This record gives sequence, structure tokens and C-alpha cells, in this order.
Amino acid sequence: MRKPNPPRIVVIGAGIGGLCAAVRLAAKGCDVTVIDTHAAPGGKMRTLPSAAGPVDAGPTVLTMRHVLEDVFAAAGTSLEDHVTLLPLPLLARHWWQDGSTLDLHADLDATYAAIAAFAGSQAEADFRRFNRQSAQLYAAFDAPMMQAPRPQLARIALNALTRPATWPALLPGRTLAQHLARSFHDPRLRQLFGRYATYVGGIPDYSPAVLSLIWRAEAQGVWAVQGGMHRLARALADLATAKGAAFHYGVTARKIESRNGQVTAVALSDGQTLKCDAVVFNGDPAALVAGLLGNAAQLALPASASSPRSLSAHVWTFAATPTGPDLALHNLFFASDPALEFGPIAEGRLSTESTLYICAQDRHTPTRPPGPERFQIILNAAPKSTPGDIDQCRTRTFPRLARFGLTFDPTPVDPSCTPPSGFAMLFPGSQGALYGRSPHGMLASFQRPGARTALRGLYLAGGGAHPGAGVPMAALSGQHAAEAIWKDRALT
Ligand SMILES: Cc1cc2nc3c(=O)[nH]c(=O)nc-3n(C[C@H](O)[C@H](O)[C@H](O)COP(=O)(O)OP(=O)(O)OC[C@H]3O[C@@H](n4cnc5c(N)ncnc54)[C@H](O)[C@@H]3O)c2cc1C
Repeated sequence: MRKPNPPRIVVIGAGIGGLCAAVRLAAKGCDVTVIDTHAAPGGKMRTLPSAAGPVDAGPTVLTMRHVLEDVFAAAGTSLEDHVTLLPLPLLARHWWQDGSTLDLHADLDATYAAIAAFAGSQAEADFRRFNRQSAQLYAAFDAPMMQAPRPQLARIALNALTRPATWPALLPGRTLAQHLARSFHDPRLRQLFGRYATYVGGIPDYSPAVLSLIWRAEAQGVWAVQGGMHRLARALADLATAKGAAFHYGVTARKIESRNGQVTAVALSDGQTLKCDAVVFNGDPAALVAGLLGNAAQLALPASASSPRSLSAHVWTFAATPTGPDLALHNLFFASDPALEFGPIAEGRLSTESTLYICAQDRHTPTRPPGPERFQIILNAAPKSTPGDIDQCRTRTFPRLARFGLTFDPTPVDPSCTPPSGFAMLFPGSQGALYGRSPHGMLASFQRPGARTALRGLYLAGGGAHPGAGVPMAALSGQHAAEAIWKDRALT
């Protein structure tokens, strides 16, 4: 039962960070109200309709399951009681224009064998060393960076000192692209592992080498959510509701009100004002910096907390019948040269030739439903785009896939493409960037804002806050926000 006069918390945004904060705070007995502009929970974890049912239009690769297990455990229940996660034996299937293909497996021995068959014993040896180094990096950074409320430089340094395998990736100024060039003789493997920079909105040539640890998040397991990723967001919202949180959809927070440097209320687009003791802002911190939630919130963060911006994407969602190569759930069709993909993006233009990620959503089990299947295709892009980009994007997507032998019937049309400008509208203040502040540069992780802001009672959760973008990271940011509120409340 809730204690008398519980702290009143307004969570602005039902994205993963906001939902995880809401679950934890409601489970502690806080009086939680979650509001979101959109009609359903999930934020970027959204679906779009298609002839074959709702298609996942956001995240599809679920890693670090234990982070989500912790959220459900904090509310006295377990993840598997609410959603069914299916472990994927095949992590992803990769295709190059020269006809070569490579599968990465959950079983490392199977991956060693696949890489040896793909590119020979030197490539296998390269990968074994890279995998060991990445595992060491992951171990060095997990507790003091990802799990900690702020990056703990001294602990990171100590962890790294005792792990010599991490040193090459931590050399000052060493980029992911440079690190991979030294790690792999085979350019295709450089290209494959360079892609991990894009998972957090970066380009391999400008992202720090430490991002090679992202591979280890995948190596520890990838899961599909039965019924689609959106089920996870719905399960978190239902859990928060069961713990007493109230949800209001279709309402936008217009202003965070304050008195004497302390948050007092949130003014909504429907004319209501919700009085509160604290606010968790789950939108992009750039919205606060731009003043979209009023002056007090604008002054709560430095401009450097949200700029420069990370990458965006063109995202196709559709149902169709495919012909051609045997797709797995996660597939990558690589550009013939990474420079053709990332060079133009770095200059704010559409890639001359993109790497195409395809999620074949219905392929997580051996038996496929009859009729058309659901697909999502992602092309990385600079955050700004012009309306004509969709036409260009189409000509750079489907004819290219046809060169790999892959065709779709029917070929998707414009409305099923969300371009960067579409994301800019869906997520105000983001300018189309999907991962908050850019991860480029050695210090990027330290410049991302933490849960606390300079305005008392205003906290951040989400991919734009520490520890960064991606579903597990956003979930951790929700934990950090909830814990900061709880600690600060005890102090006052
Ligand atoms: C196409 C795509 C593919 C991706 N693939 C993966 C993947 O495979 N694996 C992975 O781990 N991650 C992936 N990501 C990243 C991952 O989806 C995000 O990092 C994560 O979901 C972000 O969660 P968040 O907490 O930042 O909230 P968001 O998803 O950003 O949601 C924020 C919510 O706040 C609401 N909001 C903002 N301002 C206001 C306001 N003023 N009033 C009311 N409501 C407001 C918005 O409406 C929104 O619903 C992908 C992202 C995209 C877009």
C-alpha cells in the first residue's frame, strides 16, 4: 500500500528510459504520472501498420537481457512472466557484393569456424584476438561506466591498467576505424565490426576505439521478443500501471515550472498543470537546451550536453513477399566501400551507397506464417534531410538489394519510409538525431548529461543521457534517474 504523501513524480515520455524509471519509482511507492505525446508507450520502440500486421519500426536487436530482468525484479516480478524472449542462435547474417556471406553465431566456436571458412586462418586468429580485447574492454567499462550513475574515470583507469589487452583501444585519439584496421587483415571484417559505431549514432572514422566493446554486448546474446519488440514497452507500461502509475497519452508537456530553483509542476498541452516534486524528462535533452520546456529547464543543462548531434536514419517498414537470398532475422547488405556510405554522411548528405540493415521480423522461428512477411530496412543518415531524399533513398535501397538478388513484391512506396525529418517531428528537439549527442571523440561519453541537472527536481532518463543510446542503456538511465530521485529525496 502507498504511504501517505508519497513524492509526486511526473515522467515526461514513455520511451524505455521513462518506462524503466516509472516502474522503479512506482514500485517504491511514489505517486507517478507518465505523459507522452504519442498514443502508445515505447517512443522509438514503436510499430507501424502493414498488411501483415504491426511492423517493428524501431529497435530490433535486444541485448543485455539482464538489464531488463533487473527492472522487473525491482518491481517484485520477473521478465519471463510478462514477455517471452527467444534467444537467437544466429546473431546476424552478413552479405557482400562480391557474393561472400558470413554468419555470426551465439556459439563463439561456431563463429570462429564461420570466420575461418569465410576468410581463412589469419582472419580467425584476428577475430579471436579482437574478441578477447573487446571482452576485456567490456569488463573494464561495465561497472564504472554503464552501471554507474556517472562515468568513474579513476575506476576505469584502474580497470584498464590491470588489463593490457585494452590498451591499444584506449590510445589517445585512436578511432574505431583505426583500431579495426590494426585488428583485422580482411577489410570485410573491419567493415562488419565498424558498424557497431552506428548502433550509438556514430561513424567508425570519428568514434572512439572503445566502442568495439559493443560487439561483446551482442556476443553475450541477442533475443527476439515474441510478438514484436513493442510488447516489451507495453509490458513495462502495464507493470508501472500495476504498481500504481497513471499514464496519459496524446498529451505534450509544454513547460516545466519551478520556484526558487526547484521544480514545482508540469504544464500540459491540454491546459492541465500537474503539480509535482520531481520530473523525469525522457525526451531528447536537446529539447530542453532548445527551450521547448521553458526557461528554467533550458538553463538546467549546458549546450554541450546535446550537441553535436548523432546520426539519424531512413527507415522502411512494409509487408511483402521476398524472393532471393535466404534471410535470417537480422541481415546486413554491405556497401562496396565504407567511404561511399560514411563520407557523404559526415558532410550531411545522403550516402552514395548505404549498408542496408534488414530485419525480417517473422524469421525468428523456423516456421513462417503464410502470406507476406514483415520487414524493416535501415539506412544510416545524417540528422538533417530534405523531402526529396525519400525518392533518392528508394533508388539506393531496392535496386541495390536487387543486385544482391533480393526483391520484394510489392515494392514499398513512400509512406512506409520514415526519413530523418520524420524523426525530427516525432521526437521534438532531436533535429532527427536518433541517439542523442554524437559519440564522436574520446570524451563523448563524459559529455553526455547524467540523471541530475542544475535544476533541483529535474532528472533525465533516455538514450540522450548517460550511459547512452540503445535499449539496455536507456533502461539503465531510467534506473539512474530513479535512484538519484530516491537519494536526493532522502537528503532533503
Ligand atoms: C530505427 C531504430 C532502430 C534502433 N535499433 C536498435 C536496436 O536494434 N537495439 C537497441 O538496443 N537500440 C536500438 N535503437 C535505439 C533505441 O531504440 C533507443 O536508444 C531507445 O529506445 C531510446 O529510448 P528513450 O528512453 O531515449 O526514449 P525515446 O524512445 O526517445 O522516447 C521518448 C518519448 O518521450 C516522449 N516525449 C518527448 N518529449 C515530450 C514532451 N514534451 N511531452 C510528452 N512526451 C514527450 C516522446 O513522444 C517519446 O515517446 C534504435 C532506434 C531506432 C530509431
